[in-house]
Amino acid sequence: MSAGIALERLGIEVELVDIDPRWRVYGAGITIAGATLRAFKELGIYEDVERLGYVGHGIRVCSVAGEPLWEVPTPMPAEAGVAGCGGIMRPVLHQILSARIMDAGIPVRLGTSVINLRQDPARDTVDALFTDGATGRYDLVVGADGIYSWTRRLIFPDAPRPEYTGQSVWRILTDRPDHVDRRHYFLGGPAKVGFTPVSDSQMYLFVAERTAREIREPGELYEAFVKLLAGYGGMVADIRDKVTPETEIVFRPLETFHLPAPWHAGRVALIGDAAHPTTPQLASGAGIAVEDALVLAEELARDGTVPAALDAFLRRREARCRLVVDSSIEIGRLEQVGAPPEQQTAVVERALAKLAEPI
Ligand SMILES: Cc1cc2nc3c(=O)[nH]c(=O)nc-3n(C[C@H](O)[C@H](O)[C@H](O)COP(=O)(O)OP(=O)(O)OC[C@H]3O[C@@H](n4cnc5c(N)ncnc54)[C@H](O)[C@@H]3O)c2cc1C
Repeated sequence: MSAGIALERLGIEVELVDIDPRWRVYGAGITIAGATLRAFKELGIYEDVERLGYVGHGIRVCSVAGEPLWEVPTPMPAEAGVAGCGGIMRPVLHQILSARIMDAGIPVRLGTSVINLRQDPARDTVDALFTDGATGRYDLVVGADGIYSWTRRLIFPDAPRPEYTGQSVWRILTDRPDHVDRRHYFLGGPAKVGFTPVSDSQMYLFVAERTAREIREPGELYEAFVKLLAGYGGMVADIRDKVTPETEIVFRPLETFHLPAPWHAGRVALIGDAAHPTTPQLASGAGIAVEDALVLAEELARDGTVPAALDAFLRRREARCRLVVDSSIEIGRLEQVGAPPEQQTAVVERALAKLAEPI
């Protein structure tokens, strides 16, 4: 959707296709890094995110008992005009973006996907065949279809497949007490626990657990979740004690893999998780996806060819996206080996400072 908005602003005719017939997103919260907020500002949705979500500064690091230990800064240059970090419910963000798509009059075709792409170098076009039998001819096809991208399979059939990292993440939505003014991490225990406000009245709690890859049925989640948080005190214990078998718990294994560059073939390009799927430790996967959309539009706005724009896109994006993916994997590794909390947050701090640099 970000790419659609950014390209349409250039006067490019955009068509958006999503395989989900109901165009939904699952009901969990998302933490937003400062660089993501800057990208939202450029996309024109920062004020909506500020109004309907949460924006603020810093991460408070606490012990397993809930005692505050230190703060991790979330710096953003003043000229960016945004807060240092934030949070929002995914469906709310989806609604903000989809409203922009509709306002811009971008046609959206739901419940369909592309099953064949044929590039015709003589014509500088891509012919697409869709699952519903429709066909279309395009100057550029952008695969923003996530970690299991079909577009990636079509252009890079031998690309590596997503692999489990050894961690799974639990998330619940809960009330936000008045005194919770920022993100929190609770480190040094058997799992990584944290929360992020997502509105004036709500926040989400996440737990990253080292575990064998498991498919857990919804009925099994409650007991396992409460057990996982058994040793925690303070605010985490307060939240744990209010969880009931009816609480909606989102459980997700973390996967990633490294797709070697280039992330495009001819006039078919991959952006977001389709090109560089990341684990959530830096809370920047969504941000680099939105940045991809903005940079792609900037490069296409220049006076060159589409392939030249895609080469330039890769030159600007590769190192930055790798920084997010590699740092996230490294933090996840440190969490899994039970490294000292200072060592874990040092990687977070270094990467966030780097991400605050202009894109
Ligand atoms: C547990 C977990 C927690 C996370 N937490 C955070 C966080 O706090 N902060 C953060 O920034 N990032 C977080 N991330 C990462 C973030 O969710 C992703 O990096 C981000 O969603 C990538 O956006 P995307 O648009 O590339 O892909 P997606 O968000 O996966 O969107 C892909 C879209 O393509 C559609 N689609 C899929 N397949 C097809 C197809 N074949 N044809 C057509 N359409 C298709 C889907 O319906 C969807 O609309 C987290 C990831 C995980 C796994």
